[in-house]
Amino acid sequence: MSVDLPVALAEARSMIADAERIAVLTGAGMSAESGIPTFREARTGLWERFSPEELATEDALFRDPELVWSWLRWMGRLSRASTPNAGHEAIGLLQQQRRASNGAVEIVTQNIDDLHERGGAEVLGHLHGTLFTFRCAVCHVKAEYDLGTASEEELIPDPGLENLLRETPPACHHCANGFLRPEIVLFGELLPVDDFEASVTFIESADAVIVVGTSNIVQPAASLPFLALDQGAKVIEINSDSTPLTEYADLHVRATAATALPHIVPQPEGE
Ligand code: NAD
Ligand code: ZN
Repeated sequence: MSVDLPVALAEARSMIADAERIAVLTGAGMSAESGIPTFREARTGLWERFSPEELATEDALFRDPELVWSWLRWMGRLSRASTPNAGHEAIGLLQQQRRASNGAVEIVTQNIDDLHERGGAEVLGHLHGTLFTFRCAVCHVKAEYDLGTASEEELIPDPGLENLLRETPPACHHCANGFLRPEIVLFGELLPVDDFEASVTFIESADAVIVVGTSNIVQPAASLPFLALDQGAKVIEINSDSTPLTEYADLHVRATAATALPHIVPQPEGE
């Protein structure tokens, strides 16, 4: 159901106030206002020639390690240089408020950045892994790697990756031909089992689920709001656009994460 924004925000606030166990599911739109582009909106530069579904794959990693490594390293450095937006902070606040009163708010994200953590939240499930830990692409042994600091060129949304940043990935110290990659889930790879199972278990017991900034297309994450609906939970979607979830959600707040979330979470006294 889609209604006027002030009405939708008031309704969302009241659904959240009534809920005891709240799951927050987030996608790339959550971090867009922190300056990290979503895949589906970026259609310039690298994305004129590649789709994320082609480039974020194990095939691409082995076919063109320099390109895929440079792209992921750029995303890691960009994420590190970005700051949480008002939406991340509102979610962190909601979790802290509810935990202080024995409530439960758990965050399940498809994002590979760490902006929820830096916005004061603890994340139950990083379903698509993280840009900040590394392992060998061949023998899978974990490895230390310092992402370093982004240059000014790297901080622009479309840095012309192919020309600017083509860099050989660091070699693995355990095997002959191995090279490092961040521990993100590439298309076609399995999700981290522990994160996925913990997320499903919590969502099955949640009475409200807030779904923020995800196109609800990438499986299996896209099925989680439907699991919640099957269990009778209220589902609130916050997205500037419509998605395959919109017609089934109890409420669609058609707004961005950073504008909507602070209105939904009770703010501390004096603010
Ligand atoms: P996605 O499938 O999560 O789609 C982005 C969604 O966010 C769209 O529905 C769009 O309408 C919505 N949106 C855009 N800006 C918004 C805003 N400010 N507020 C609220 N909603 C907004 O993401 P994708 O870009 O299609 O990427 C698919 C996969 O890649 C996912 O795993 C995603 O998390 C990952 N990814 C992660 C990051 C990150 O970690 N920050 C960035 C890009 C992609
Ligand atoms: Zn190796």
